[in-house]
Amino acid sequence: MKQFGGKNVLIVGGGKTGLALLGFFLRQGARVTLSDRRDETRIPQVEIMRRAGVTLDLGGHDPAKFKNADLIVVSPGVSLTQPAISAAIEAGVPVWGEIEVAARVLNAPLVAITGTNGKSTVTTLIGRIFEKCGSKTFVGGNLGQPLIEAEREHDWDWIIAEISSFQLEAVQTFRPRHALLLNISEDHLDRYDAMEDYMAAKARIFAAQTENDWAILNSEDSLVQKIAHQGRARRIQFSSRQVLEEGMGFDGRDIVWRHDGSEKRFPAAELKLAGIHNIENVMAALIPPLLEGCPAETAWEAVCRFTGLPHRMTHVRTLDGVSWYDDSKATNVGSVVKSLEGPAAPIILIAGGKDKGGDYGPLRDLVAGKVACLILIGEAAARMEQDLAGTTRIERAADLAEAVQTAHRLATAGTTVLLSPACSSFDMFRDFEDRGDQFASLVRQLPEPQRRDI
Ligand code: ADP
Repeated sequence: MKQFGGKNVLIVGGGKTGLALLGFFLRQGARVTLSDRRDETRIPQVEIMRRAGVTLDLGGHDPAKFKNADLIVVSPGVSLTQPAISAAIEAGVPVWGEIEVAARVLNAPLVAITGTNGKSTVTTLIGRIFEKCGSKTFVGGNLGQPLIEAEREHDWDWIIAEISSFQLEAVQTFRPRHALLLNISEDHLDRYDAMEDYMAAKARIFAAQTENDWAILNSEDSLVQKIAHQGRARRIQFSSRQVLEEGMGFDGRDIVWRHDGSEKRFPAAELKLAGIHNIENVMAALIPPLLEGCPAETAWEAVCRFTGLPHRMTHVRTLDGVSWYDDSKATNVGSVVKSLEGPAAPIILIAGGKDKGGDYGPLRDLVAGKVACLILIGEAAARMEQDLAGTTRIERAADLAEAVQTAHRLATAGTTVLLSPACSSFDMFRDFEDRGDQFASLVRQLPEPQRRDI
């Protein structure tokens, strides 16, 4: 059914999600306008859009076009408080996010994953488990393909969607059968006025769930627990600190699943992923497939094969006894804390980038205890230096290349050099992948030590 045929739909944002939306609404037979504050030199495929009959509103947002739309659909990076959008909301125009559009057209059951950290890892793991158990599974959302791309095919058994807090701001009827909230720590305070607003966005994942659905929650995370009572879904918890009467727990050796009077044990030593945060990720990821009847052995096999996503504590090279790791995806303080917990001291930490307005103070103890030198780059360097003053030796570098050179000069055998920025990448790089790739390439170019023949 083409429910948007003939409708006047305005899409805000011409990035990856905007283009996927454009394709979807054109297939629906809607009359589509694309609005972006960037001018046409910075939007891909403008000519193709023109030929397809798309109306373009580029280099700014024309309020009249917004008010005259039957529906406005915003890309995840777009704030609903922008004047053209808020005026349209006031005029009664519905404003949805891409996730809301997808929720209204997709028929397969959904698993939605949100949280400050671990989303991509858990989303990927759940996809692998369902696939291994024989289900036709779409994996996407904030990771990989936009969720609306799932509409191109119609026989999915499961749709697994990573959902950011930005994407949750504009949902109404989005109703996941399983909604996972992994953890909450400070992030994106450049976008939200307060931590409460960020938490309220995360809690929207539960808003449309019913008693037939599941809310999957981290029992050890105090901020998650603050909003855990919201919504009507059945709750099931996971804990990396204890075995739970009901739910997924950990006794330090085995992951223990207790549900409806039965118990299953999974030895954590069999995992290829390291760190207690990954135990949490694995525990969370196992819950939906096990509740849905995937055989425990098959689910565990899929989890044990998984070696992790790139740019998350990825080993780049060992040179002269120094191990170099790319953790470019660590874009907030919470994830850097987890990453610093792993390797033994001494660590040389390369951090900094685009400042998101949070407090770097929670890094103080770990930096003081394990980091021999902190090398700071990017816009956030000054604030980080202030927040971390007195913890360790601090150096500044003009760019990533200089940071790698400084680390190379200072590191002695047994040192771990870690790029784990605690910031987003947009001040100097296209995205976190670009930052990680550039780091890896700089590290690979470091010369082998000269060996003298005796
Ligand atoms: P996200 O998609 O939420 O950004 P990822 O799975 O890509 O999460 O992991 C990003 C980084 O966050 C990792 O490099 C790791 O340092 C950290 N991390 C991963 N899982 C967790 C977790 N469960 N708790 C805290 N930090 C985590």
